[in-house]
Amino acid sequence: MDCLFCKIIKGEIPSKCVYEDEKVYAFHDINPQAPVHVLVIPKRHLGSADEVCEGENAAAVSAVFCAIPKIAEKLELGDGYRVITNVGENGCQSVKHLHFHLLGGAKLPENMGI
Ligand code: AMP
Ligand code: ZN
Repeated sequence: MDCLFCKIIKGEIPSKCVYEDEKVYAFHDINPQAPVHVLVIPKRHLGSADEVCEGENAAAVSAVFCAIPKIAEKLELGDGYRVITNVGENGCQSVKHLHFHLLGGAKLPENMGI
């Protein structure tokens, strides 16, 4: 499958990894929108949050949310952070592999849409 983030997971495209476990990979966004901007992705290829969330898909998403507090602690985001996922055209999703933007390191705008 020609998927940018699957290639990043496999190491075929370089990335700056901040966390990895059996089900999850996290790396710095190439075009940061905040002092800390990390993408947290399931290793299982899911197109977006709009995909049916059951079985292994649900387990993949659950693993992402188990990883996020660990990543936040590692990146010293104790003052808080934001998690965003874009879906489809109106959501301005550019990469069709489910990913969660983890943003922090400063007080974020109340209505920031990434
Ligand atoms: P979205 O617009 O929600 O689909 O987000 C895709 C994100 O992937 C954007 O924030 C991009 O800056 C980021 N991105 C695209 N290519 C790379 C890459 N090779 N390494 C890291 N981040 C990337
Ligand atoms: Zn993929």
